[in-house]
Amino acid sequence: MNSTNSINSMNYLEHFRQSGALLEGHFILSSGLHSPNYLQCALALQFPADAAKFGRAIAEQFTDANIETVASPAIGGLIIGYAVAAALNVRFIWTERQDGVMTLRRGFSVKTGERILVVEDVITTGGSTRECIEALEANGAKVVGAASVIDRSNGAADVGVPRVALVSMQVPSYKPEDCPLCTEGLEAVKPGSRTKK
Ligand SMILES: [Zn+2]
Repeated sequence: MNSTNSINSMNYLEHFRQSGALLEGHFILSSGLHSPNYLQCALALQFPADAAKFGRAIAEQFTDANIETVASPAIGGLIIGYAVAAALNVRFIWTERQDGVMTLRRGFSVKTGERILVVEDVITTGGSTRECIEALEANGAKVVGAASVIDRSNGAADVGVPRVALVSMQVPSYKPEDCPLCTEGLEAVKPGSRTKK
């Protein structure tokens, strides 16, 4: 199991395009940076049958890992994490931030040595996954792997455990003054505003 295991990446990417989860053009991101791509994973998981398909594809890579529990950092990981847990037929729990710290709440508990797979929708730096892993291990669990639908780090993010992604990609972003799309004179769009210029 290497850090980026992309099976049928093109099919998944095509689903992302068709569902509007991956836009191509010239976008102003919430950070203010410009990018030729905009990714909104939630749109690709709107239909339960699609989420189940992605969940099975991740689960298939962990069938021999004796996973006892799937855990996700809320909110982004909830749908895909649940789908992976359903495919593995194990329980599903999540961590969430309380006063900025990723925490196990809602009465969720883990056993000492419990084998957990951490699942997120999109890994960019791996920060949320790492925080989720820390919260679980602070409670005694053993996190044996991590997975995401999309890896925006193109394999670079290190979360300290073996990690897989269905699709690895590099999403470039530019400061407005350095943006080659601006240089070309293409108008930039704010995704989600529904007003295309
Ligand atoms: Zn631009």
